Amino acid sequence: MVKSDQSTKTISLDRYGIKNANVRYQLSPKQLQAIAVEKGQGKETANGTLAVNTGEFTGRSPKDRFIVKDDITKDRVWWGDINIPFDSDKFKKLYNKVVNYLSEKEVFVRDSYACADDNYKLKIRVINEYPWSNMFAYNMFLRPTEEELESFNPEWTIVNAPGFMANAEVDGTRQHNFAILDFTRKIALIGGTGYTGEIKKGIFSALNFILPVFKNTLPMHCSANVGKEEDTAIFFGLSGTGKTTLSTDPDRSLIGDDEHGWTSENSVFNFEGGCYAKVINLSEEEEPEIFGAIKPGAILENVVFKADGNVDFADTSITQNTRVSYPIYHIDNIKKPSIGHNPKNIFFLTADAFGVLPPISKLTPSQAAYHFISGYTAKVAGTEAGVKEPQPSFSACFGAPFMPLHPTKYAEMLSQKMKDANVNVWLVNTGWSGGPYGVGSRMKLKYTRAMITAVLNGDLGLYNYDDYHIHSVFGVAQPRECPGVPSGLLSPRQTWNDDEAYYKMAFKLSNAFRENFKQFEDYASEEIRRGGPQRYGY
Ligand code: ATP
Ligand code: MN
Repeated sequence: MVKSDQSTKTISLDRYGIKNANVRYQLSPKQLQAIAVEKGQGKETANGTLAVNTGEFTGRSPKDRFIVKDDITKDRVWWGDINIPFDSDKFKKLYNKVVNYLSEKEVFVRDSYACADDNYKLKIRVINEYPWSNMFAYNMFLRPTEEELESFNPEWTIVNAPGFMANAEVDGTRQHNFAILDFTRKIALIGGTGYTGEIKKGIFSALNFILPVFKNTLPMHCSANVGKEEDTAIFFGLSGTGKTTLSTDPDRSLIGDDEHGWTSENSVFNFEGGCYAKVINLSEEEEPEIFGAIKPGAILENVVFKADGNVDFADTSITQNTRVSYPIYHIDNIKKPSIGHNPKNIFFLTADAFGVLPPISKLTPSQAAYHFISGYTAKVAGTEAGVKEPQPSFSACFGAPFMPLHPTKYAEMLSQKMKDANVNVWLVNTGWSGGPYGVGSRMKLKYTRAMITAVLNGDLGLYNYDDYHIHSVFGVAQPRECPGVPSGLLSPRQTWNDDEAYYKMAFKLSNAFRENFKQFEDYASEEIRRGGPQRYGY
């Protein structure tokens, strides 16, 4: 079947309330890129890749993300600071303002879908104010065939108007930008921000509600790939911990880099049709596949050019969160369609800036559940203030901002699936070693890759306890040897060369785990609570 890069079909947006718009339906990425450049909204790098600036926002804005409280959501969503309720009538009024704003304008429309498994397909119509946002939708969502387009009946609609500014007092938003999900109207309404991540994470959040509630499927903030033996591996982790980097492995076929569903039919499928990689300090030597994916069709965000027209990936003057989106076929080794069997191995990635977690350790089922609910990583303090203290950051299910249900809902599903599938769970510290941030250094990518390869090749024995050391603070099983990795690196304490300082910091982190877990204690079984650290500081 032919992939539809463009369509001769014309559509009207009247039924959305968008009147007299100049509708540009299903344009090809090439056309969209040309329009973006012509409008001065982007420029091309030396190799012809589109580069855009997303404007005021270069990252998501979690405080401006709302869910309409209605009959579908009111008793199901875990309301609070993460899932902030929005009034349905207010939504309708704001929606009307946005479509009014888009009326009479040139508007870019794309039909696409999410979920690579046909049984779970979610058909989406994306309506964008900007051509490059529409090209992002081409890259990130799944692309229907020409045939599918003929009778395309979209279920969800994304209305994306970065140039529309809300009036917080009148509209019920917090400030001028907003991303609101309405499950009854099946609309994701995004305004006041051009950050493209809001588009993909809007649909992710919708699926994180729909799949567990209606389809008995566990949605996961993880990447996934599959080896020659069809052995699936998945990698959970918060932003910057290595989901995209580590799942992009020339020896394994990529299923997806960010969002997947684990079905009750023992399969794992990608929600998306593309990848969204961080490009800060990207180098061709260390990450050749991602580097190679940056070619015409990809969209670079918020990067700075060198004089020769190439990108300076070390330049963070616009943001640390420089990105590239590309359709998944920009990577050579991919699984088609993006579906795998039950995972054999699950990795929890964490960038521990305290530098105290082992670079790789094996978790018991209790520990797996505990760490999943905790969702630990660390933020490195802003360099500008000269503060070098790392900050722990806990985000339940390694993706709390996108999870409308209570974290224990997802955790229970995961625990059950892990048991049924008999998977091995590993905690991987892709963060600091030899000391905390500022003193030690980040674990070398080649070593993290070697550890993961060792697990996937079965070179790290499973629970022959003599091969492991049980960490005295965190209780996790730390291998003593790993092919391709200097043994001294496997023990974080040894890399510090200062036991007292090491344990002081380790206790600081175990205390932070305990503090964070308090909110879940009432929901967690004794078994899960046993998976936490073994010792705390005073
Ligand atoms: P997001 O959810 O925001 O997409 P992510 O989990 O996909 O985040 P990556 O895009 O893979 O994160 O980012 C990891 C970053 O850390 C990359 O820039 C990578 O080069 C860098 N890095 C440095 N050392 C390591 C390591 N040992 N393991 C993994 N990544 C590392
Ligand atoms: Mn990623």
